Amino acid sequence: MTPLHWSQQQQVVVLGGGLMGLAVAHGLARHGWSVGLLRRAQRDAAGFAAAGMAAPHAEGLSGALLALSQRSLQMIPAWVGSIEEDSGLPCGWLPCGAVMPFISQVQRQAFPTAATGHPLDRTALETEVPGISPAFTCGLLFPQDGQLDSRRQLMVALERACRQRGVVFEEGVTVERLRWEDDGGGHRRLVAIALRSRDGERHRLSCGQAVLCCGAWSQQLIPQVPVTPIKGQMFSVQAPRHALRRVLFGPETYLVPRQDGLVVVGATSEQVGFTPGLTPMGQNRLERGLRELLPEGSRWPPMERWYGFRPSTPDQQPVLGPGPLQGLVMATGHHRNGVLLAAVTAELTQAVLSQDPPGFPNTPLAATLHPFRWNRFAPAPAQDSVRQH
Ligand SMILES: Cc1cc2nc3c(=O)[nH]c(=O)nc-3n(C[C@H](O)[C@H](O)[C@H](O)COP(=O)(O)OP(=O)(O)OC[C@H]3O[C@@H](n4cnc5c(N)ncnc54)[C@H](O)[C@@H]3O)c2cc1C
Repeated sequence: MTPLHWSQQQQVVVLGGGLMGLAVAHGLARHGWSVGLLRRAQRDAAGFAAAGMAAPHAEGLSGALLALSQRSLQMIPAWVGSIEEDSGLPCGWLPCGAVMPFISQVQRQAFPTAATGHPLDRTALETEVPGISPAFTCGLLFPQDGQLDSRRQLMVALERACRQRGVVFEEGVTVERLRWEDDGGGHRRLVAIALRSRDGERHRLSCGQAVLCCGAWSQQLIPQVPVTPIKGQMFSVQAPRHALRRVLFGPETYLVPRQDGLVVVGATSEQVGFTPGLTPMGQNRLERGLRELLPEGSRWPPMERWYGFRPSTPDQQPVLGPGPLQGLVMATGHHRNGVLLAAVTAELTQAVLSQDPPGFPNTPLAATLHPFRWNRFAPAPAQDSVRQH
């Protein structure tokens, strides 16, 4: 067995190097941890596909997910500051607010987060979004919401920040299994990771602490945690600068305007497993959505088309905190809100790993994580199905 070019030295190993893996690794490294990161491929990460909205109010989130998202949203300016400081690169954070248009006031009043927005009549809606379709009679403005340029800036800056903070990357490796031992007290603890390198060779990496950040592929390692892929197609158009100033969150389609005038148009939501590629139907749906929302937008030149896989769960909420093995922490299942939730995920993961002793039944941290625990989906004796061999 060929040794990897790093092994055994890291205090914690991050499994997966997409948005969450990078955010978690950076957060840990900033807190003085020595971190190794295992990554199969860079470009398949949903972080490169995301529109980058940090818009819990326009998304109409509720309950514990809204509270977690609002906490993350508040953290974003300082979090972005730390990444920009370490990397020297911008993340494209823009607290631009989001506008949600409605065809009737009844519909607006029924919107879950209506109380957190400013109501707009048709005139005010047109002022906020010049050229918006006449089909919309009113709207809500959520000035708290914003966006990060995940695809072009955040992912690159995060990776640079990790490297500057000493995170050690192992590229082109697929984590195949987690290996555990019984600790004698009826608990299973993580002892090693079985992985396959790019050249097809298998390795065993001793490891007592790891964070699972494998996005839409997470269930391949932890079968009892139902994270499944939801494919999203997107495209972008080049608008005149400032043609659109706020995120426009329509009923079928959203538009996210970057500072340089690029407008990201999203997104389809398809249950097609890991079927790759763009489809005419998906792209046509987005083009029609743009036309119906902002007719002028269909005259802006198209720039780029892409797709990615959201890591979704049955309740569309993430899986966070201690996992089914001692020493394994979960940071996955962020569905369509991973960019929004990256800051708080990095913070909570670091807090979980820093607990001494681990296992913290009655703390505020435990209360925060409870709605997002890995075993909320089924009461099954799930440890048995963590892949071992
Ligand atoms: C079209 C689209 C639009 C979106 N828009 C938004 C938005 O506007 N706002 C928002 O907040 N969120 C948005 N999201 C969601 C966001 O992108 C995701 O929630 C987030 O990227 C998930 O991060 P992750 O690290 O869990 O997964 P990913 O970023 O997908 O990273 C997972 C990584 O793990 C690696 N990996 C997987 N399995 C293994 C293995 N066995 N061994 C080694 N490596 C492995 C993969 O190669 C990949 O690099 C969008 C997503 C899509 C697809």
